[in-house]
This record gives sequence, C-alpha cells and structure tokens, in this order.
Amino acid sequence: MARADRSITILLLSGLFAAVAVFFLTRSWEATAISALAGLFAAALLYDAIERRIALAITRPPPPAAGGASSDELTTLLEALLHPCLIVHRGRVERCNRAALDLLGNHITGQDVRLALRQPAAIDLLAQPGGAREPARIAIAGLGMAEQSWDLDIQPLEGGRNLVLLIDQSGRQATEQMRVDFVANASHELRTPLAGILGFVETLRDPLAGGDQATRERFLAIMEGEAKRMQRLVDDLMSLSRIEADRYRAPDQPVAVAALAEEVVSVFRQSQNAQGRAIVIQIEPDVSTVRGDRAQLSQLLHNLVSNALKYGAPGTEITVAARRIDDGMTELSVTDRGDGIAPQHLPRLTERFYRVDSSRSRAMGGTGLGLAIVKHIVQRHGGTLHLESKVGEGTTVRVALPNFDGR
Ligand code: ADP
Repeated sequence: MARADRSITILLLSGLFAAVAVFFLTRSWEATAISALAGLFAAALLYDAIERRIALAITRPPPPAAGGASSDELTTLLEALLHPCLIVHRGRVERCNRAALDLLGNHITGQDVRLALRQPAAIDLLAQPGGAREPARIAIAGLGMAEQSWDLDIQPLEGGRNLVLLIDQSGRQATEQMRVDFVANASHELRTPLAGILGFVETLRDPLAGGDQATRERFLAIMEGEAKRMQRLVDDLMSLSRIEADRYRAPDQPVAVAALAEEVVSVFRQSQNAQGRAIVIQIEPDVSTVRGDRAQLSQLLHNLVSNALKYGAPGTEITVAARRIDDGMTELSVTDRGDGIAPQHLPRLTERFYRVDSSRSRAMGGTGLGLAIVKHIVQRHGGTLHLESKVGEGTTVRVALPNFDGR
C-alpha cells in the first residue's frame, strides 16, 4: 500500500473507532458524530507529528565521525591518502579507504581489529579501552606480498578513535640495501689494489729484494698498474655520481653524431694501434644532431668501444654505426665479433660491478662500472639501451637518443 493510502486508512479507522466507542457509551447520534470528527482530527495531528519526526531523522546529517569532519569529508580525506588507512574505534575497524580494502580484504569494515590486522604489537595498542592515546609507529611485515615491509603509524583522534596508516617501506629498504651493497663493493674493489701496493712497498723495504735493480723495476711496474686501476675506479665512481647528480637536468646541446664518433674512434685508433683492431665507422647520410650533453655522450661511446675492444676476439673488426629510427630518434650502435654474452647475464650487465668473468674484466683493466655509466647517461638523455649478444658470435649495444630537431 502507498504511504498516502496507508495514512488515510489509519485516519478513517481512528475516527470510526472513536465514534463506535462513544455511541455504545452515550447512545446519542450527535455525540457520536462530534467524537468521530474529534477522533479523526486528533489522529491526524498525531500522525503528522510522527511523520515529521521520521522525516527529520532521515534527513538529519550524521554526527561528526571524528575530528569534527563530516562523514563525507572523512571518506574523501581517507580516499585521498595513497597509503592504506583505517579508523579504529572500540577495537573495531569503523571505516577505511580502498587501498586498505585492497591490502587487507573487503571484509574488514566493522571487523574486530585483531582479525583485520593480525599484528600483535599494533593490536596491543589499538584494542585497549579508549584506543591508543599517544602516536606510535611500529615496523611490521606479513601484509601483502611476502617481501613487503610496512610502517604502521597510529594517531589518536577525538572520541577514542585511532587513525591507522600503513606505509609501504619495501622500496626504501631496497634502495638502502643497494646503497649498502654499493659501498661494500666499491670498498672491496679499492681495497684489493691497495693491499697489493702496500704488499710491494713492504717487499721493497727489504734490502734483499729492494736492492736488486731488476726486481725493483718489476715491483714498481706492478704497483703502478695497481695504482692506475684504483685511479680508473675512482674516476668511474666520480663520473657515476656526477651523472646521477645531473639526472633531473635534461641535456639540451645539439651534438653532431658523425663528428662525435670520429673523435672518439680516433682516440682509440691512436692508442690501440698495438692491437691492430680495425674500427669501422658507418654513419648513414641523414644522421645529423641529437639533443645531448657532448661530454657524456663521448664517455658513453668511449665505454662501448672500449668494451668491444676488451671482449671482442683479437684481429676482428669493430663497427660504430648510426642511423635514424622512428619517433624522432637516432640509434648509435657498437658491434664486435667475439665470445658474446650468455642470455642470463644480459639483464644484469648494467648493474654496478656486475661482470660475467671478474678476473678477465680486471685483467683487461675493467672497473665493472662502464655499462652502469652508459645506462645512467642514456636515462638522463631520455633514450633507450639494448644489448644483443650471441654466444660465440659477438655483441651489439644499441643506444637510441632523441634527435635535436625532434623529427
Ligand atoms: P667492465 O669494466 O668489467 O668491462 P662493464 O660495466 O663495461 O664493466 O661491463 C660489465 C660486464 O659486461 C663486463 O665485465 C663483461 O663481462 C660484459 N661485457 C660488456 N661488454 C661486453 C662485450 N662487448 N662483449 C662481451 N661481454 C661484455
């Protein structure tokens, strides 16, 4: 029955009931008619009053949930937070945002916080009567992926409520771990030649070994080699940190690709003559200028040609090529013929100090930082880096850089 029909029925029944009661009591038609009208009127007033109260209760905004914010404002605030977050009241999850539902499950709204979080350290604070009264931060694991770690941040709100924020710390920990590994690796790389130099200094102090001219010359040559190795390492470490410091400053010089290739290759041609390795330059006629930092692009090409010379087979040719490719880019490539690289190593070659064969790299004067430097230079230039290699055939490293004119 519609609401209006129901109201009329109630009014008619009330009037009828009053009329029948008065007729039996008084047996007077006048009194019956008056009481019927009075009954109808009183029921109408009563009904109206009840309806008004119900309507008022429905339309009245809900009381502020916490901190004086309305329910809608609070929902908007919680959803605006990128971290999963919950409001806990009297040991239950009163409300939470979408990120919290995604992390902890759709069932948690209204759930006992002990079941929703299952973190004893946090539960001790949140489930106590009146909630946590002081801000607290607890490191927890076991939420989301197995390797994820979180900071659980608790803030007291008004009315015994607690705001609980879950801040994913996995990325920060991975970065911290990388930094620790890097410092350990760099120290190790420097300590080895340093220990060699100190050992030879000790030996030369000995009048027996140090007094002999030929032995002294031999030891001094080894010491010089080790000192140069340390110097290369320090130079590469400084290059890396300079490139990283510049990473948010986009390079903007026009760099002529053909001239750059000629310049870098001529340095190798002069110094590598003893190896008798031919370096061929193949620049397509439409290649012009890329947008870049000339000194860094020269270092990039130098590192790639140096690797091709180190790891290519003796007597084979090295090719430095450039061509225009799609999307306004020019591709620079360096190809060698040699042992090549097994596929499982390819994704890790740009990691600092990662080498396929450490002793070979060291024997060739490698620092293990050459390709890491290349990667950082490419990233700063907004380019791409691809390594292709076939075991027993050789390697091609391709670097795509944006053309200066953007076309
Ligand atoms: P390194 O100073 O050791 O040469 P890089 O970062 O330049 O360091 O290179 C990392 C490793 O990648 C090298 O140690 C080597 O094992 C491998 N590599 C790089 N370039 C080539 C190449 N052209 N052919 C074969 N292996 C290569």
